[in-house]
Amino acid sequence: MNLTDTHCHLYFKDYHGDLDQVLDRARQQGVRRVLVPGIDQETSLEVIALIEHYDLLYGAVGVHPNSGNNWNETTLPVLTELASHPKVVAVGEIGLDYYRDRTPRELQKRILKDQLDLARESEIPVILHARNRSETDRSCLEDLLDILENWLEAADFTTDPAGFRPGVIHSFSGNLQESQRAVKAGFCLGITGPVTYRNASTLREVVRETEIDRLLVETDGPFLSPQAKRGKRNEPAHVRYIVDKIGEETGQQPAWIADQTSANADRLFIWE
Ligand SMILES: [Zn+2]
Repeated sequence: MNLTDTHCHLYFKDYHGDLDQVLDRARQQGVRRVLVPGIDQETSLEVIALIEHYDLLYGAVGVHPNSGNNWNETTLPVLTELASHPKVVAVGEIGLDYYRDRTPRELQKRILKDQLDLARESEIPVILHARNRSETDRSCLEDLLDILENWLEAADFTTDPAGFRPGVIHSFSGNLQESQRAVKAGFCLGITGPVTYRNASTLREVVRETEIDRLLVETDGPFLSPQAKRGKRNEPAHVRYIVDKIGEETGQQPAWIADQTSANADRLFIWE
């Protein structure tokens, strides 16, 4: 297996006692790389410490919408500095969250836009979070896609030697129409544990209908454990369950899904 976990919060206290064993299990399962995204300035600094210590790990730095109230005039300069680290391969996770609504929406949008511009200046892609208020109120993902489309219209990708690679909508939870809009704009979709849940028929439809070259797999550990590990802490080795489920849905061998999704991650993040 050639697996890549493109999203795991390994700095959370859930991993403090046994991170070495967690990463050993990941390697044994065939996980070649794990991308660790920050959620605020403090955790972005923890990301740097982790990626400098472990070969397996790469990082993203950014402020999550639920941490937006701590944003101040020094945040962007600090993130800009961290984003220049050779093992920092993206800005994230950033986005909008209308479920928790912990940060005023106008502030969420401003922070998101500032960090989208940071990604462009740093010539790295973005890792995006969007959580709708409810199944029927889909304005969060809609607002995110509006902002992304406007950003792409104004952004200049011609200076990036890697070309056009805007980013990924992580733990994608939209419907088919929304997935098509995101893919058309140029984004990848990150597929997480919920694809294995019984009630996730919409997400499985998205997986079947999306070209394989736009799918990434991710655990979002310690959250979103796949069905087989539900109730337990999630960790990078469990990315295998997501690959298996995508294989089942698309009629492909898991090893092939693993190769394809890892190649997609290689193209998007260009690990040094
Ligand atoms: Zn996350």
